[in-house]
Amino acid sequence: MTPQNITVLGATGSIGVSTLDVIRRHPDRYKAFALCAHSQVDKLFAQCLEFQPRFAVLRDAALADDLAARCRQAGLTTEVRHGMAALVELASLPEVDTVMAAIVGAAGLEPTLAAARAGKRVLLANKEVLVMAGELFMHAVRAHGATLLPVDSEHNAIFQALPADFSRGLSACGVERILLTASGGPFRDTPLTDLQQVTPEQACAHPNWVMGRKISVDSATMMNKGLEVIEARWLFDAAPAMIQVVVHPQSVIHSAVQYADGSVLAQLGNPDMRTPIAYAMAWPERIAAGVEALDLFRIGRLDFFAPDCERFRCLQLAYDALAAGGTAPAILNAANEVAVAAFLEGRLPFLGIARLNEAVLAALPAGPEGSLADVLGADAEARRMAAAMVAGARFA
Ligand code: NDP
Ligand code: MG
Repeated sequence: MTPQNITVLGATGSIGVSTLDVIRRHPDRYKAFALCAHSQVDKLFAQCLEFQPRFAVLRDAALADDLAARCRQAGLTTEVRHGMAALVELASLPEVDTVMAAIVGAAGLEPTLAAARAGKRVLLANKEVLVMAGELFMHAVRAHGATLLPVDSEHNAIFQALPADFSRGLSACGVERILLTASGGPFRDTPLTDLQQVTPEQACAHPNWVMGRKISVDSATMMNKGLEVIEARWLFDAAPAMIQVVVHPQSVIHSAVQYADGSVLAQLGNPDMRTPIAYAMAWPERIAAGVEALDLFRIGRLDFFAPDCERFRCLQLAYDALAAGGTAPAILNAANEVAVAAFLEGRLPFLGIARLNEAVLAALPAGPEGSLADVLGADAEARRMAAAMVAGARFA
């Protein structure tokens, strides 16, 4: 079998590293064609030594020159590029079969959209792409015959529990509800009065999953679940009212689909992203992912609760942004990226994240999501406003 050429956007991140682990286990099926990172030169160089990709990408020319020199010295033929144009090119080159979209945040939108427009097999972890530009992105997928496979564990679970022809319409398939599970993060039971004092280290210590810092903070505020509601709306063309968030602290059921006949189909597994990554990579086949078998006897019990949208304002804000439509989700996403970065740098208290997101969403009118320029314009404006609010210490 000729191995599939994979471009990994965000190769040095949590999802990128897990993706490379699956590639490592199946060298006959997959070849790391391009490895793209932002600033972690040492880590990307180590990956280049092991996987010998045709291309590697970093943020700017200085970092790329440094990596290129090291690659030459090591006798590698890897070509090193830099910047957004390189990401877009390496997501759409004809030799590329598959693109793993695992950049964090809005920076992933352009290359992932380019992969869809080039008709690639797109494995989507970078949920912000669908949050910012769901309509535009899904249109590109359909218009250019791309194959879109969700990597986010919940959406991957839903994809596994839906019939293969779900794109003819969820209601036509007898689907009544999507049950989107959420662990509730590290502060599910923390008294509200203690939340103001939360540190970045506490917020990043997720009870079940090991992830990048941004998504870990999003899990702690439940903004992550809000972004995932929006992600599900676009991936499965689901009305927001069909998407029910279910707090399930054990993170064993990764999500489920409820059908008209009373059946609920769920996907279960250990909290290890290599399972959804391997599923998306091999679909419609299944391959080994190095993941420990699920031991139901050890788990013993599964609990479920309704989400508390007062405690977790960010979850409600996502439903509000979906209802407002147009660029409102892009505005919320941009405000949240600024808020999370400020929190991680100690410039905003934990509860300030939701307050800032709410203020920016309320202040900026949503426009139509007509083009990439509309989306990027709304994103830039929301970032400017959020940054000014942080600098003005309005939420300290
Ligand atoms: P990480 O922070 O661990 O990794 C992010 C990756 O993106 C790194 O390779 C980083 O490069 C790169 N990157 C960051 N900024 C830029 C930029 N401006 N331009 C180009 N590349 C950039 O994130 P995760 O792996 O945790 O998450 C990636 C995506 O997957 C997110 O959208 C997240 O929501 C989603 N996701 C993650 C899950 C998880 O378990 N981690 C689960 C489900 C979804 P460098 O290292 O050089 O800075
Ligand atoms: Mg998820």
